[in-house]
Amino acid sequence: MNSKTNTIKAAAWVEKLPPYLFAKLDEASRRAKDAGMDVIDLGTGDPDIPTPAPVVTAMQKACADPSTHKYPSYSGSLEFRTACTDWMNRRFGIKLDPQNQVMALIGAKEGVAHLVQAFVGPQDVVLATTPGYPPYFSSATMVGAESYAMPLLAENDFLPRFDQVPEDVCHRTKIIFINYPNNPTGGVATLEFFKTAIEFAKKHNALLVHDAAYSESYGPGEKPLSIFEAEGAEEIAVEMHSFSKAYNMCGWRIGFLAGNASALNALGTVKKIIDSGPFTAVQKAAIAALEMPEEEKQKLRDLWLARRAAVVEELKAAGIEFNETSVTIYVWAKTPEGFSDDEFCARLVEESGVVVAPGASFGSAGAGYFRIALCQPEDRLREAARRISEFLKKHGG
Ligand SMILES: *Cc1c(COP(=O)(O)O)cnc(C)c1O
Repeated sequence: MNSKTNTIKAAAWVEKLPPYLFAKLDEASRRAKDAGMDVIDLGTGDPDIPTPAPVVTAMQKACADPSTHKYPSYSGSLEFRTACTDWMNRRFGIKLDPQNQVMALIGAKEGVAHLVQAFVGPQDVVLATTPGYPPYFSSATMVGAESYAMPLLAENDFLPRFDQVPEDVCHRTKIIFINYPNNPTGGVATLEFFKTAIEFAKKHNALLVHDAAYSESYGPGEKPLSIFEAEGAEEIAVEMHSFSKAYNMCGWRIGFLAGNASALNALGTVKKIIDSGPFTAVQKAAIAALEMPEEEKQKLRDLWLARRAAVVEELKAAGIEFNETSVTIYVWAKTPEGFSDDEFCARLVEESGVVVAPGASFGSAGAGYFRIALCQPEDRLREAARRISEFLKKHGG
């Protein structure tokens, strides 16, 4: 290798990003594997189950069709957008205009970063929650803006308290991110909560972004709401939907944004400069996902529920407290007495070969918790939970 390569300093905002918080855990996991341990990784939320066959078949067919090979429209094909609005209508009873109230995304994460680019400047604030999905905050850093994190506490059912946001933050807020069902806490939004969020956003003239990436992961009696079920939402809000967790399509990079037409228009300006929308064949495959028979969708949900049940049974027996909702693909549990979440997670890998995510890696208010991703087969999850329980016995829990 040529040793005379120049090192070019990255932009100032890159230096401001927090360190990658799973780094220590990844390192511990690698060491455990090197030592010959059978490691069970429940750290990241990346479904291990294949994408449903109808979606794969639609993709194969669409790939062979040369009309998909050209630049896609940055906003998504009308066929895709219509499938999205039809689905919103079937799923939530909401009528949106496919012409101007829905836009294709290259995954919800793309939507987060580009919405912030479209709306937020250096004097502005991005309001999000702690614990929360890290890109809300790093996107703010990327545009040189401040962010403010509202705590999600068990005593408030993991819903933020807008009345506790300081006045000077309220005035400067341009975007508010909320996410229900919530990653990582498993919190569920009520219609009342959505109404409060809409009122707050309107009062401060800020764009309200509801990240509904887990709207399709739920158990009986917990069917999540769309923010558009609340009065007046389309005046101030957009909702992000993702195919990643709902249909095991993380690698396909597709989602959509629905709602406020002027916000979509502003996002479109950014997308015209930066990307040209998702591959048309992927959009066709995503239509197949939305149009899968209800029984097939139920099968996907049942699998997550069976996995959750396997873990929860062991946690209960071990006396570990956790949020007992059945939304998302995670279990949000309290770290045992006498351990910080960092220490608990690190020692669990070292001694038991089980990788879980420390709560504080999602923000300071996540401290005292850990997150189990249900992204392993049921028997492996049962085994992991059994090892957690043994770890506790060994350490006097
Ligand atoms: C996983 C996740 C996403 C990512 O969605 P993509 O469509 O894969 O980009 C978005 N939001 C939350 C809260 C997530 O957990």
